[in-house]
Amino acid sequence: MDSYDFIVVGGGIAGASAGYELAAHGRVLVLERESQPGYHTTGRSAALFVQTHGPSVIRALSRGAKSFFLDPPAGFADHPLLTERGMLLIGRADQSELLEQNLDQSSRHIAGVRRLDPKQVCRLVPLLKEDYLVGAVLDPEAMDMDVHAIHWGFIRGMRARGGMLVTDAELRGLERTGEAWIARTAAGDFAAPVVVNAAGAWCDVVGAMAGAAPIGLVPKRRTAFIFDPPPGADIAKWPSVIDVGEEFYFKPDAGKFLGSPADQTPMEPCDAQPDDFDVALAVDRIQRAARIPVAHINRKWAGLRSFVADGCPVVGYDPRVEGFFWLAGQGGYGIETSPSMGRLTASLALRRGVPSDLAEQGVTEAVVSPARFTCG
Ligand SMILES: Cc1cc2nc3c(=O)[nH]c(=O)nc-3n(C[C@H](O)[C@H](O)[C@H](O)COP(=O)(O)OP(=O)(O)OC[C@H]3O[C@@H](n4cnc5c(N)ncnc54)[C@H](O)[C@@H]3O)c2cc1C
Repeated sequence: MDSYDFIVVGGGIAGASAGYELAAHGRVLVLERESQPGYHTTGRSAALFVQTHGPSVIRALSRGAKSFFLDPPAGFADHPLLTERGMLLIGRADQSELLEQNLDQSSRHIAGVRRLDPKQVCRLVPLLKEDYLVGAVLDPEAMDMDVHAIHWGFIRGMRARGGMLVTDAELRGLERTGEAWIARTAAGDFAAPVVVNAAGAWCDVVGAMAGAAPIGLVPKRRTAFIFDPPPGADIAKWPSVIDVGEEFYFKPDAGKFLGSPADQTPMEPCDAQPDDFDVALAVDRIQRAARIPVAHINRKWAGLRSFVADGCPVVGYDPRVEGFFWLAGQGGYGIETSPSMGRLTASLALRRGVPSDLAEQGVTEAVVSPARFTCG
């Protein structure tokens, strides 16, 4: 049986970034059930890098990822991973307080964040309706990510460090024998003292195979779709437009618009499919806010964003199951935080604590620890 130092379950962005960082310290095997490692949530995102949304630990992890994205290691990618976009968090009169709260929180760390009045908003996105708006918060540092390049940069980098990705390798069982886990998979059996659970929406399913208590992970479906901008509208440089109450968003995407109702429907882990009602809801909300006739949907999809109760990620050894490491609960932020999450995983798996730069940003072991659920 082939033996490794670390077996990582799941080849999405979480498993790939963890595998990349762990491969600098030992022999790594990443197991992926599907033929393509980006088949589930990683391949279905809106590709936005934002440092001003989510719980404060997510914001800290995103800030900690920025320098990696802007200046990745040599050979990681052959073109920039981030491109300028900007984000407008728009609000109606009944959402004024939410805008103020966001401005207060976001401007603490990102200097360029500022409040705009409806006229200024419409100068940036002329198709928005001035009378719909009370104003917006502009985050000029929000950017588009090249998710495919980031994901494959981690996988290629891991391979260059001697790590392996095996696809069509569904994990079916885990047994602890002495110092090692035996992973029974569709592609054979493998052994390692440490298993990293990066199975996305299936993290509690994989946890159960190890005999771990559940962390209460809830996969939530989010729908997205592509539609045409009005003829003649030059949208390439427009910022992403997000409703401050998370009721919808739209953003330019390769000459078209990507839209979403920002839905969060709880589901069992599965190959999530879009629901026409959610698409219609988004179209209705977008058309209330903007003069964008949505005549035709080019493409639609859905993916699962997985959360635990406090909305923060779960990173660390299970306190009750030896050698079992959780990397779960990335919610809607798993791509933008991936360089930080990979480094955090490697450092905690090696029992070296939180990397100092992430600790300076405010990341603590306690806030991400699985013990907050599994010792309840
Ligand atoms: C519509 C939408 C928009 C989003 N927008 C953004 C955004 O703008 N910015 C951002 O940062 N994030 C965004 N996200 C969130 C982001 O996509 C996720 O946080 C991230 O992809 C999660 O990565 P993951 O590796 O944990 O999960 P996944 O990509 O789902 O990977 C988990 C993998 O584990 C594998 N697996 C499961 N069980 C087993 C098993 N038993 N054996 C072997 N393999 C197994 C699965 O096949 C899967 O490939 C968005 C998500 C959605 C759906």
